[in-house]
Amino acid sequence: MQKDDLLRLMHDPNLLPAEMQDLLSSIAAQAASLNMPCYLVGGFVRDLLLNKPVNDLDIVVEGDAIKLGNALIQKHGGKLTAHTKFRTAIWHPSTSLRASLTPDAIDLTTARKESYDHPGALPTVTPATIEDDLRRRDFSINAMAIRMDGDHFGELLDPLNGQADLDQGIVRALHSRSFVEDPTRILRAIRYEGRYSFTLEPETRKLINPESFACLSSLSGERLRHEIDLIFEEGNAGKIIIRVDNLKVLNVIHPALPRFNLTYANFLDMDQNLDFPRSRITMGYMLWLKDLPEDEILSIAKRLDFTSELTHSIRAVSQLKKKLPDLMNSKPSVWTFALEKFPPDSVYTVYLVTRENALLEYLSIWRYVKPHTTGDDLKARGLQPGPRFGEILSHLRAAWLDGVVGSREQENELLNTIL
Ligand code: ATP
Repeated sequence: MQKDDLLRLMHDPNLLPAEMQDLLSSIAAQAASLNMPCYLVGGFVRDLLLNKPVNDLDIVVEGDAIKLGNALIQKHGGKLTAHTKFRTAIWHPSTSLRASLTPDAIDLTTARKESYDHPGALPTVTPATIEDDLRRRDFSINAMAIRMDGDHFGELLDPLNGQADLDQGIVRALHSRSFVEDPTRILRAIRYEGRYSFTLEPETRKLINPESFACLSSLSGERLRHEIDLIFEEGNAGKIIIRVDNLKVLNVIHPALPRFNLTYANFLDMDQNLDFPRSRITMGYMLWLKDLPEDEILSIAKRLDFTSELTHSIRAVSQLKKKLPDLMNSKPSVWTFALEKFPPDSVYTVYLVTRENALLEYLSIWRYVKPHTTGDDLKARGLQPGPRFGEILSHLRAAWLDGVVGSREQENELLNTIL
């Protein structure tokens, strides 16, 4: 791409908000004054060339990123978190400069080379040129840089032909050992393929094979789960998981992982204005694993190092689904007291797959229904605190839920009959 065309993209406010453009100019000026070649890399370049809005600023310098970071805070303020071992820094610009910037931190990295002691290990890092830095990356489409300092502003560096692959819609690994060195790249490749409707370049496709599967099998649960989490963050997560399955990768991660039911995929985007925290990732796992037997859920949870909270939410979906037939045609109070034992996001997931309206009534109304009477009121009436308190308050709550009382007076009358 010609410099002028790239500059046009970098000045397009629909792709790069004006505040971000200002911020880039400040960084470019500081790098130039330090005589430090400075580059935008990775997803920034990829998405800009695809004419998609960019969110991350990923910056690499040939020199010392911490030095650049210190110069930036001296000139513009803000905070710097430095990691001396890898000479990387995170700059949190001051509020005036970052205005509407999201995320509110910028990664500053020193160009580096990586070598691996053994497959799947975390790499050993040494300082290097920008070209070395691009060569250690995962795919050609992620291995381009735009130079920023001084007169170089807007020059594209594309030693691995990423732009041609972007134009052709291809995800290409940079070398034949790529997936053995880092098997998380198998999942990353499939994620980019799905996100942009690209295809795996045939040689790259062949690298998803028994040799890289062996390395994938020995990957830690945490790293595997992180990659699957990222898949659930994607707009077309369901299709991507199915592709992972079709390429026989799921089976390697854990043989009990089932096929994702695509009819559930849209549920990840549902928003019923319900006021409990729902994460797309947790919903994804619940929809995916809910029909498995308990022991398989636990075995997958162990392999993927699920938090106990996530495991609990998934098991709750499975248990609630089994309990549902017993609850049918029950009074609202029976539903409510039963559903309160389950996390709200699990109840919501069961609602999505069953459309049992009582579940939505519970989530939006019933669970908030409380009697006016409190424990203090009961004490004021001379009752000693104890288990009977809870029973009385539950009795009153049930009366409200089931429409037996509908006003404070009626509640008081009922209370008089109970006491
Ligand atoms: P997105 O966040 O949109 O998926 P990104 O390119 O910002 O894309 P990150 O995961 O933030 O992705 O990684 C930033 C860059 O670091 C990538 O563009 C890629 O160049 C490099 N990278 C990330 N993970 C790996 C990896 N496992 N192996 C090699 N390079 C990687």
